[in-house]
Amino acid sequence: MAKTALTKKSARGHLGAGKFKKVSAKIAAEAMKALCQRYPDADCELTYKNDFELLIAVILSAQTTDVNVNKVTPKLFKRFPTAEALAMAPLDEVKEIVRSTGYYNAKAQNIQACAQGIVERFNGKVPSSLEDLITLPGVGRKTANVLLGVIHNISGWTVDTHVQRLSKRLGFSLEVDPAKIEKELQKLFPNQDWTKYSITLIWHGRRCCFARNPDCPSCPVNNLCPSSSI
Ligand code: SF4
Repeated sequence: MAKTALTKKSARGHLGAGKFKKVSAKIAAEAMKALCQRYPDADCELTYKNDFELLIAVILSAQTTDVNVNKVTPKLFKRFPTAEALAMAPLDEVKEIVRSTGYYNAKAQNIQACAQGIVERFNGKVPSSLEDLITLPGVGRKTANVLLGVIHNISGWTVDTHVQRLSKRLGFSLEVDPAKIEKELQKLFPNQDWTKYSITLIWHGRRCCFARNPDCPSCPVNNLCPSSSI
């Protein structure tokens, strides 16, 4: 792809610490448009049937892949289909079911405590506001924004590891703290696009802009990205 958008392209490696460069809002918008064209079907890759299942699946997805989570959740939700059931579940059994997702002790405790919070404070229904969601154990802004965006169509940024890495490489934000990155992304892009753009960046991070050895030659925004290696 021709390098038309950036007048001066750095020849440095794209992983040089402290050497990332911010781009203008115009370049950022062009990059996101091109990425959306590359991934028109980008969507949440976790399997779920309702808000409760998605919330638990997102908590389990920390430090592992959605594919791994999708392998354990059918069994988990068949055995404990509701917040009430999971709240009362034998913890050892929950641990055994989620073991393959890693950090299974903490994750099992978190999802059970989350289910208990839903039962005790929200009448068994998953809350639908960011403020309420983040009061639940194991639920931070990232998890809450996934749920709000996917289930309730409330636009928000999911600043996970992919969005953090790509925001820096693409020059959208040079911040390190996810809350600060979220604020910059909110300023940079229109509100109605936040959820779609989050998912699109996550897809690009999984399929092309890998943490190690990003595939810059086949990247659709290598003419716009200040971290491109080509
Ligand atoms: S893969 Fe694309 S977005 Fe990632 S560093 Fe390379 S050019 Fe930039």
